[in-house]
Amino acid sequence: MSNGKEKIAIIGAGLGGAVAGTLLQHAGFDVNVYEQAPAFSRLGAGIHMGPNVLKIFERIGVDKKVIGISSTPSHWFSRDGITGEYTARVPLEGYGHTYCTVHRGDLQAIQCDALQPGTLHFGKKLARLDDNGTDVLIEFEDGTSVRADIVIGADGINSRVRETLLGEEKPNYSGWVGHRALISSDKLKKYDLTFEDCVKWWGPDRHMMVYYTTARRDEYYYVTGVPHPAWEFDSAFVDSSRDEMAASFEGYHPIIQALIESTDEVTKWPLFNRNPLPLWSKGRLVLLGDACHPMKPHMAQGAAMAIEDAAMLTRCLQETGVIDFRTAFGLYETNRRDRATRVQSVSNANTFLLEQEDPAWVYGYDIYAESLKSETAA
Ligand code: FAD
Repeated sequence: MSNGKEKIAIIGAGLGGAVAGTLLQHAGFDVNVYEQAPAFSRLGAGIHMGPNVLKIFERIGVDKKVIGISSTPSHWFSRDGITGEYTARVPLEGYGHTYCTVHRGDLQAIQCDALQPGTLHFGKKLARLDDNGTDVLIEFEDGTSVRADIVIGADGINSRVRETLLGEEKPNYSGWVGHRALISSDKLKKYDLTFEDCVKWWGPDRHMMVYYTTARRDEYYYVTGVPHPAWEFDSAFVDSSRDEMAASFEGYHPIIQALIESTDEVTKWPLFNRNPLPLWSKGRLVLLGDACHPMKPHMAQGAAMAIEDAAMLTRCLQETGVIDFRTAFGLYETNRRDRATRVQSVSNANTFLLEQEDPAWVYGYDIYAESLKSETAA
């Protein structure tokens, strides 16, 4: 365990980094989180948080808060995008906790608030890391620096920490984009149509995932996967338009047409991924989440894997203490690699829940019920 002196630095206060910080602080470690953004901002998007994640939220006492602001669908429906025929009706209850769909910004606000006051530092963009064997010098673009005993890279798909470990390498553009739009439910009242709590509309080469992002069901959200040959922009996303959406989903079901007609603003995001990394840690540096195993988002489990990583890394550090970080990092990778790689590959293939199947391997998973495999036993 910690002797109270060793310092842990987390780079990135995204969905994985913020939870890692809180879990480690609850376990008694001295943790600071450094985020490049100048302040918290409410990105316009929704996110699924499955029972596998809610079990982790329970440990840090935020599960009820998250449920309180979420829609909690009883089923995931899969439907043919053109005929509307159901291809799967998958129950989302019975996996040991609640299935939530929520506004991503509202979720992140709860996660960041759970950190100890004064330990989340905005405007700190990592510029350089120097692991000198005794500790790590962390230099930020604003000219300031800090030292830590270990550094957790939770800095997303373009991770600077990953680059320090493995060299510069751009992620692979998948050939697909995701459109994202939030629609006020008031706009949908005029239609004589049923807007289901959580439904994925499937076409031969594209899809639209739709769900509510609030407990009041006053905000409906869609996110797509649509083929797009190349990503020619420098920015993380660009504006799309109702016309582009109409062209992309021409001939699709009337519910999809109603959603497009009700769209005021829609953005378009490139979907990137990476091949599994040859290593997850080196020396005093370790990766989690998208920095380590990014994926196309089609299983709605990317952030979930980041949060499971955070929980497992915390367990391993509790087991060994920061001083024996090498053993902790080895244990962590041993106990996470297979599951993260499996989810990454199913998500990239975009086959999850297209047909009726049992998702218990994803949602029923309880990271605290798993016994730790040792490196040699793996
Ligand atoms: P991120 O959440 O990306 O956080 C990284 C953080 O690091 C950011 O705050 C960033 O500003 C910061 N950062 C980056 N570089 C630096 C630096 N140099 N210095 C300091 N800070 C830095 N996942 C789900 O589980 N469910 C879903 O429903 C879902 N839907 C998705 C829909 C779309 C269209 C997309 C693109 C993804 C979706 N995902 C979903 C995936 C999910 O968003 C990611 O897997 C998740 O955000 C990864 O969490 P993370 O903490 O690893 O990285």
